[in-house]
Amino acid sequence: MQGVGFRPFVYRLAGEHGLGGHVRNDERGVILEVEGDALDVERFLARLEVEAPPLARVERVSPRDVGLRGSGEEFTIVASAGGGEPQAQVSADTATCADCLAEVLDLADRRHRYPFTNCTNCGPRFTIVTGVPYDRPSTTMAGFEMCALCRAEYEDPRDRRFHAQPNACPRCGPQLRLLKLDGTSAPAGEGDVIATTAVALLAGRIVAIKGIGGYHLACLAGDEDAVARLRARKHREDKPFALMAPAIAHARELVELTAEEETLLTGPEAPIVIARRRGAAPVASSVAPSGRDLGVMLPYSPLHHVLAADVAAALVLTSANVSDEPIAYEDADARERLSDVADLYLVHDRPIHTRTDDSVVRSLGAGTPLLIRRSRGFVPGAIALPSALRRPVLGCGAELKSTFCLAKGSRAWVSHHVGDLKNYETLTSYREGVDHFQRLFAVEPEVVAHDLHPDYLSTSYANAREGVDHVAVQHHHAHLAAVLAEHEEPGDALGAIYDGTGLGPDNTVWGGELLVGSARGYERAGLLFPVRMPGGDAAAREPWRMACAWLAAALEQERPALPARLAGMVEAGRWGAISELIRGGVASPLTTSAGRLFDAVAALCGLRAEVNYEGQAAAELEGIAVPQPGRGYPMPLVTGGEAPILIDARETIRALLSDLDAGTTPGLVSGRFHESLAAATAAACAQITAERGLDAVVLAGGVFQNRLLLARATELLGAEGLRVLIPRLLPPNDGAICFGQVAVAAAREGAPG
Ligand code: ZN
Ligand code: ZN
Ligand code: FE
Repeated sequence: MQGVGFRPFVYRLAGEHGLGGHVRNDERGVILEVEGDALDVERFLARLEVEAPPLARVERVSPRDVGLRGSGEEFTIVASAGGGEPQAQVSADTATCADCLAEVLDLADRRHRYPFTNCTNCGPRFTIVTGVPYDRPSTTMAGFEMCALCRAEYEDPRDRRFHAQPNACPRCGPQLRLLKLDGTSAPAGEGDVIATTAVALLAGRIVAIKGIGGYHLACLAGDEDAVARLRARKHREDKPFALMAPAIAHARELVELTAEEETLLTGPEAPIVIARRRGAAPVASSVAPSGRDLGVMLPYSPLHHVLAADVAAALVLTSANVSDEPIAYEDADARERLSDVADLYLVHDRPIHTRTDDSVVRSLGAGTPLLIRRSRGFVPGAIALPSALRRPVLGCGAELKSTFCLAKGSRAWVSHHVGDLKNYETLTSYREGVDHFQRLFAVEPEVVAHDLHPDYLSTSYANAREGVDHVAVQHHHAHLAAVLAEHEEPGDALGAIYDGTGLGPDNTVWGGELLVGSARGYERAGLLFPVRMPGGDAAAREPWRMACAWLAAALEQERPALPARLAGMVEAGRWGAISELIRGGVASPLTTSAGRLFDAVAALCGLRAEVNYEGQAAAELEGIAVPQPGRGYPMPLVTGGEAPILIDARETIRALLSDLDAGTTPGLVSGRFHESLAAATAAACAQITAERGLDAVVLAGGVFQNRLLLARATELLGAEGLRVLIPRLLPPNDGAICFGQVAVAAAREGAPG
């Protein structure tokens, strides 16, 4: 990689050991020749891997003897030869490093409070790159000419800013402006634009702030009035807002943090970390109206650092959009779209080339965080494929939480989170994103893999690409294959894939599947008891419909009575109409969806009849759960000859209903329900793996974003002596589908010829 400080590091290291020689890049990687005292060469090699700068990931060092060249003690950095194929020379956007932050905070430094300070160890990369090779003219910094001081840093191999493409200072780099709604400058206050913005935030204003990957909307997190206004203007009812704490000490006041969570927060990716909210957290209740957790991040650009320090309190920092639209990132568009939402705009003149949302992680406390959304800070890091591809492949992904994946050789590049493809604007940015990645990584796909669902826009996109081979991949098979590929697991495994929806080959809606297989193929070895999904997709927005369907199945009644806990929330007439749909099966496909089972239980507990964001009911059910290890409801396994195992949740529903009727709290009922599903899953997996001589179980699918279910299922499977494989590099949800599709397409291609 270029611009990550590796060559200057080598230069310094060679100097310290008195070695001569040179270093250069070629398309295979970094080539370096050193000569000098044997012991010095050995020490040099030892330090090479260990002390490499943070963004330069050393995959492998392969030393070789080449004989003396007579370079004496002179060491040089040889300019890139060019030629060959452009390789992955773009790293992810990286949070401000300690050295840059120190400069920004230093009154005497020429970059004091300069919001675009960066170096080879930090700063924007992926979001500003416009083409290859990765060089200043191929970034959105192209229009800024470096001043003499910046130029000198850029050209000095001993400097931290040697070949730092976005290098800038207050004299030559991008500038901030604070604008009013009409686009004119806001009146200057005391100090600079950031100080004026801080004053406005402290006075309860909502400010649209142009950041690294797009615009955010910001307001004071402790200001109930401001947060409520933001919710109303953004048309966002319950979905929690992310927070930015000025520093880790502030974050500790908002949420309970484990050591692992602190490591995640302060890491170079600087994601949003979802953690347990503190009782006395100084935030408005409308930040997260119905949740027990808060999503918190730390400042990751100098702009955020200075602003957060000026405000000296947590800010709401949420993607700037209205409802489900993608995040705004272009200036004119942002001003237009946000004119009813923001009071002020804090903007700058460095364009954002690729819109990139903040990443979201959850700690599992076991050394491997669970990625909920893999985007800024992680993308476009390459993921290794277990074996080399015969031909380049594009995986088109699913529909919600869509991402795409390009792969060539033994590397795969999974895109940033693009979002819900039902939205026209998202589809446009998806198309542009694929084109951009094809150029960046020089991949011209010859195989295009897509979901089995004919109506997904990602499927239409795939089918519209001509002159390529198309491969349709079943959704849950892709989930299984994605996890197997990232773990480089060569053989067959059993996957418990618990999900919202995915089309099955039998044209029913799958989503509670036990699949045996590998990327080469699969067999359905088990499934959740299927029930009707009345009204199709509408059932996902109205969990009470699933409550009705599960009641009808569990009680074997054609017209189940409207439960008292739902009576205030659902009209009796609608309940009756939906039970008719279920009875007749009209517009009500059968589903094994585990996500819909969670919806039904949440509704039966009286948590909510309707949701206003995806996965809300399940998240709230998890949120109230009081863990009940060993005290689950019955959830029997029905086995019969050749047929797949049926996980029969009807008895579970009956048991939890009588528990609720007896006055048991929804928190306990939720805990027992989680326990039943974890235990039934472990039992079914133990049986299937024993029958088939397997030892590994994959847990994947959006339902496994549920930390309680994932942790308990992992524990119980471990107790059965099974190896549990969970997603680490990619999310358990549909963000991983594109990568799984690539793995399946690759397996069908066979080994390179
Ligand atoms: Zn830096
Ligand atoms: Zn400068
Ligand atoms: Fe899925």
